[in-house]
Amino acid sequence: MLTLTAGADRGIRRHGRETYPYECCGALIGSGERVVEALALPNAAEKEARRRFRVRPTDYLAAERRASELGAGLLGFYHSHPDHPARPSRYDLEHAWPGFAYVIVAVERGEPAALTSWRLREDRSAFDEETVTVAREGGAGKRTGETPCPPGF
Ligand SMILES: [Zn+2]
Repeated sequence: MLTLTAGADRGIRRHGRETYPYECCGALIGSGERVVEALALPNAAEKEARRRFRVRPTDYLAAERRASELGAGLLGFYHSHPDHPARPSRYDLEHAWPGFAYVIVAVERGEPAALTSWRLREDRSAFDEETVTVAREGGAGKRTGETPCPPGF
């Protein structure tokens, strides 16, 4: 299971709308299974940005730096699928790393739609989908004991 703060959920959807009809991508920063910040990154796959995304090593390092600023970790990456279902492509499978969450948001005719999250199996043969929940604004959330205001918001 992956939990997004309302701000992270909004950030991913907004980014998908902004870059449409091209794919957007970014990093998921947080701790445990809770994403507190969606950090927008440039999509380095210039030629094929409609169908794939690539994170440059320098952007990867920037994401790790941002995570440590927040006292958090790099939990995974998100990207959009313009006019395409929110399911990982063959390219996504070939370029994923085990241990990370991969969030995909479908953007249909410019409007963000389904948002899913996937984890690569250890043997890298396939992705398994996981449940995504969005934490309510204001920190009440579904679970108790969570930080009401994550750093950076
Ligand atoms: Zn994809």
